[in-house]
Amino acid sequence: MRIAIGQLWQETNTLNPRPTTPADFGQFGVVRGDELVAGMENVNELGGFIQSLRQWPVPPEIAGLVRLPAWPGGMATSQTFTWIRDELLGALDAAMPVDGVLLALHGAMVADLHPDVEGEILDAFRTRIGPQVPLVATIDLHANVTGQMVRSADALVPYHCLPHIDIFETGARAADVLRRILFDGAQPCMAFAKIPAVVPAERSSTEADAGIAVDIKRRLLRLENEPRMLAAGVTPVQPWMDIPELGSSALVTTDRDPAFARQACGELAEMFWKRRREYLPELVDVAEAVRAAHATREGLVVLSDAADATTSGAPGDSVWILEELLKYEWPREALVTVVAPDVVAAASQAGAGAPLATSLGGVLDDRFGRPIEFQGVVESCFEARFTMTGHIGKNLPIDMGPAVVLRRQNVCVVVTSRSGPHFAPELFQTAGFDPFAASVVVAKSPCGFRAVYESRASAVYCVRAPGCAPSDFWTQPFANIPRPLWPWDELESWRPQPILRRREDETS
Ligand SMILES: [Zn+2]
Repeated sequence: MRIAIGQLWQETNTLNPRPTTPADFGQFGVVRGDELVAGMENVNELGGFIQSLRQWPVPPEIAGLVRLPAWPGGMATSQTFTWIRDELLGALDAAMPVDGVLLALHGAMVADLHPDVEGEILDAFRTRIGPQVPLVATIDLHANVTGQMVRSADALVPYHCLPHIDIFETGARAADVLRRILFDGAQPCMAFAKIPAVVPAERSSTEADAGIAVDIKRRLLRLENEPRMLAAGVTPVQPWMDIPELGSSALVTTDRDPAFARQACGELAEMFWKRRREYLPELVDVAEAVRAAHATREGLVVLSDAADATTSGAPGDSVWILEELLKYEWPREALVTVVAPDVVAAASQAGAGAPLATSLGGVLDDRFGRPIEFQGVVESCFEARFTMTGHIGKNLPIDMGPAVVLRRQNVCVVVTSRSGPHFAPELFQTAGFDPFAASVVVAKSPCGFRAVYESRASAVYCVRAPGCAPSDFWTQPFANIPRPLWPWDELESWRPQPILRRREDETS
């Protein structure tokens, strides 16, 4: 038996003006064929696929297609879409014939003229492999699930957790769905409900003590314990995509039980819809949040800069919070990140210990941001390269290129050449800091940062600042989204009507 595995991972933010190109994928780490299987065996969904496949009753031959990952960012160019499609389909053609396919997708990737990248890719795969070869794909919790994705895959398996600490496990769950199809004769029956609502991420933690996201995850885990169940998920879509099919979704895949799939899917969609207002966060203005952090003398205060969250596809060069931090003296370090390749180059040339006066921020995103003048010293120059485990990654290799630390008194700016996880403790540690011993960490992340900081911080503030990934996204000009759509529009009478995908050879 021969199983093909591959990955396409990028979350697109169409408010970010900088396009995503093949170079962005190349920098993150494109790997193909045997190199994929050998190099990714412990990493994220691909690792989950590989480890699970190796434990099948008769372990199959694993055909590595290609891994195409890029950090969240702006819309991909149409040439990038063509390159992605050619890479994936070329690899599939070379691997054929195969008995099954596992794809690790994000599910919220947008390219110019291609608002549903993953739907088109899944459809192209289905055309190549035919109706009988099972195709199972994992998707991020923030995927924008579309009719084309549902029609093309036998099963879509979403993450259950935000922070995304179950990525590897989701890969293993998907491989197990494929095993049940191939070995146990399971026949997937997928119900799908699109929910006309988009919610902010701040209060979406499934790992909190209580709340709607916690209750949904609990329900999903209960459902997946049912013997007839193959996979279940709710995907509150990431909001910053101006595309025609934007919306959240519920997905339930059973083994030959359409009534159960529809019923469970409808209940999940209704639960999300009825409690959607619980996702609305309390935000604190920049000046007030920094003042409150300064008044907290003991322990660590985390300021979540969701609007410039690099995990949400914002460029990471907002300096609104930094500007405010510079107004205070801090007892211990106040750590903040900025993406600024030109500043890294200038500071590296000046060298560690040199004084530096530079303009900082507001270059990559000049709509919501503006630069400030910064005067300090170059504390260190380093390579922002590390392996990350926690939200978004399990053993995930990260390389943000050359980087520097700029210091003015206790305000320390970690300046990187490229975007990346601008919240990860591993980034601050690579820069020479213990983030948990700092006065302040600015996390460019709306929710995922909680995986590691929540239990160790004295206080967490969700800051309202301008940026490409604002929590109040409905205040931005969106021209292409479907209407009515909450919270752009109020609509009270909505009821879910799950649609059912059956295998094409089924008649009833
Ligand atoms: Zn996500």
